[in-house]
Amino acid sequence: MRTPLIAGNWKMNMTVSEAGAFADELLNNKLNQGVEAAVCAPFIDLPVLIEKFKDTDIKVGAQNVYYEQSGAFTGEISAPMLKELGVHYVIAGHSERRELFGESDSDINKKAHAVIEAGMVPIICVGETEAERDNGEHTEKVANQVKAALQGVKAEAAGDLVIAYEPIWAIGTGKSATSDDANAMCKSIRTKVEKLYDKGVADSVRILYGGSVKPATVEELMSKSDVDGALVGGAALKTDDYTALVAGA
Ligand code: PGA
Repeated sequence: MRTPLIAGNWKMNMTVSEAGAFADELLNNKLNQGVEAAVCAPFIDLPVLIEKFKDTDIKVGAQNVYYEQSGAFTGEISAPMLKELGVHYVIAGHSERRELFGESDSDINKKAHAVIEAGMVPIICVGETEAERDNGEHTEKVANQVKAALQGVKAEAAGDLVIAYEPIWAIGTGKSATSDDANAMCKSIRTKVEKLYDKGVADSVRILYGGSVKPATVEELMSKSDVDGALVGGAALKTDDYTALVAGA
């Protein structure tokens, strides 16, 4: 049985004091215990979140990492630095990083390796553009991204991975994929993982959908066979919405 996961992706939102206030508010809400809750925050917010959530099951994630261990990489943060803080998840390959910061499949593969080696869990993001979907290239595009991201990742680690299917045209647009389309892609990602590894790995890897998920849509999405949770941007920024997302999953 795969534990459902609701991962908030704050993107470049929330100052340290706002993050602390969010955590305090969230701790006053009762979260659905059957669902794993995670908050992926800007680097500077991580210490306060880790401190506030230390006696809870709420996991803290980063939104990015650099794949080298240490050295002359001005402005970057390494996986061992995040691990020492108590970070659990690290998003790798979000489409905003691919599109705005030029991250390649190979960069994302190196990041996945660095995160796993440090003992954390990558949330690997994949997804097609609107044009690729219109041209019927979406399934192949996503399968290729999955293959590239997992290159060289051992089966022992692969089963613990999280993959987030995030169609680019659905991110922050209010235009979500239908639950059937989301499920079809999550299923096809699982089939790809089975081809790359085996059925055991495919059955245990968690596959999330992301792209304009709201409290009102999460339940329908989660009723689908291959959707194991959601990666949520806008609707994860308010504690009541986030609590409702976890309740709906
Ligand atoms: P959104 O963002 O929920 O605001 O569409 C999702 C994401 O980018 O992870």
